[in-house]
Amino acid sequence: MKILISEVGPRDGLQSVASIMPLEAKKAWIAAEAAAGVTEIEVGSFVPAKLLPQLADTAEVVAYARTIPNLTVAALVPNFKGAEAAVAAGAHKITLPLSVSETHSLKNLRRTHAQVLDEARAIVALLRTLPADRRPKFEGGLSTAFGCTIEGEVPATKVVELAEALMTIGCDEVGLSDTTGYANPAQVKDLVRRVRAACGEHALSGLHLHNTRGLGLANVMAGLEVGITTFDSSLGGLGGCPFAPGASGNIVTEDLVFMLEAMGLETGIDLPKLLAVRDILKAALPREALYGFTPDAGLPLGFVPASVHRG
Ligand code: ZN
Repeated sequence: MKILISEVGPRDGLQSVASIMPLEAKKAWIAAEAAAGVTEIEVGSFVPAKLLPQLADTAEVVAYARTIPNLTVAALVPNFKGAEAAVAAGAHKITLPLSVSETHSLKNLRRTHAQVLDEARAIVALLRTLPADRRPKFEGGLSTAFGCTIEGEVPATKVVELAEALMTIGCDEVGLSDTTGYANPAQVKDLVRRVRAACGEHALSGLHLHNTRGLGLANVMAGLEVGITTFDSSLGGLGGCPFAPGASGNIVTEDLVFMLEAMGLETGIDLPKLLAVRDILKAALPREALYGFTPDAGLPLGFVPASVHRG
């Protein structure tokens, strides 16, 4: 069984830190992770530079990442304009976030659900004008799907309703994001089952989990049990969590790969090589904390990964 790890550090991690990583360091980071066997990386977000100066060079990062063989280059797009820029840069996959909590959506994107769905419709229309080989995969990312820091509980029925709306509009897939780190394993299983029951088995293959309350890997286990095959994570848990000092933001790629490989689930990632990529982050962002238990403790004696690496 093969699991896809989608590295989101260059987007989710970097957008959460004050430091700006130089373009050359981003390139080195992406190249080194790809060389370690990571096959999908979300390299940035097409947001206005004045909102997120850390990601102002996303078009250049996408152009560079595209030159790496066998790497799926993903980017976040907040709206139609962002999608146009992502297509022009040549992203292989684009994700439009739709916050299930409408209050969060208004605060974050300054758009109602109806307005975000309109953006999704316009993006689908744009993608349909492109030849198949230049058309990125389009994912609708349901953020705050497990709870919201402003609204509190987010009804599962609302998540399902918006997932259906995105699939009807023409997204290739939807993803569930625990933006706030509120999810628990029982809830993960329940929500995945509900969305699949409504939208079909193939509409949902990925989870974006945070480790705010230490349940990140437990939630991965729950996802695995209901057939999830793609997990987002961030090298060194870069970005941390502003609400919970000491906690990583995203789940830590190194710990996730260790757990999966130790369980016999192939990620295709070479752990010692992956651990060495941290040096690039440490050098480029000396003021930022890096997280992860596996990097601190080291690999167990006699550890045999599931992925067999040749050459
Ligand atoms: Zn996130």
